[in-house]
Amino acid sequence: MFNIVLFGPPGAGKGTQAAKMAAEYNLTHLSTGDILREEMKRNSPLGQQVKALIDGGELVPDATVIKLIGEKLKSAHNTDGFIFDGFPRTVEQAKALDEMLAGQNLEIASMITLEVEENELVARLMLRGESSGRADDSNIEVIKNRIKVYNQQTAPVAEYYRQQQKHAAVSNMGTIDQTFALIAAEIQRINS
Ligand code: ADP
Repeated sequence: MFNIVLFGPPGAGKGTQAAKMAAEYNLTHLSTGDILREEMKRNSPLGQQVKALIDGGELVPDATVIKLIGEKLKSAHNTDGFIFDGFPRTVEQAKALDEMLAGQNLEIASMITLEVEENELVARLMLRGESSGRADDSNIEVIKNRIKVYNQQTAPVAEYYRQQQKHAAVSNMGTIDQTFALIAAEIQRINS
């Protein structure tokens, strides 16, 4: 099993690259953002609970997302591993993920951070908001809050993996294919 965390600020392009990686390496793509948006779309009790937080660019409580991921890890998968996208977003979540994986004799092989300059992030998110209709992509104040929350609460997660010597970073200022090539080279290095 090969389990990888794709990391980076909002708008860094994690979803796009994670989908390509899932196809190329036969991995199960787990995106907490996608799971939560699905719950909101269904207007489930959980969806109703998290809507105000997500629309305001705040994080959903750790316990909520840890439980969601725990359920996904327990259900059967016939792939070669997991790609985590948008999770873990706090050090607390990273610790919980390590514990849940250890319970199944699994571990994270590496975290790969996608690096994009801040001005470019804001531009990409505003553009995405025009087509996706995502409330959190359509408001400049919410976008700025998400970047602030990322810098304060999420960025320390990279240090957590760095300490385990499981961290790499690639630029995502180029094209989708250029970035994917950088990720593929990194995965080859990890697996060699
Ligand atoms: P982006 O990376 O563009 O911010 P995501 O789709 O990953 O978008 O997440 C959208 C929103 O869902 C986040 O702003 C946050 O409110 C919530 N969310 C997603 N994953 C987590 C998580 N692991 N912990 C807490 N909140 C989360």
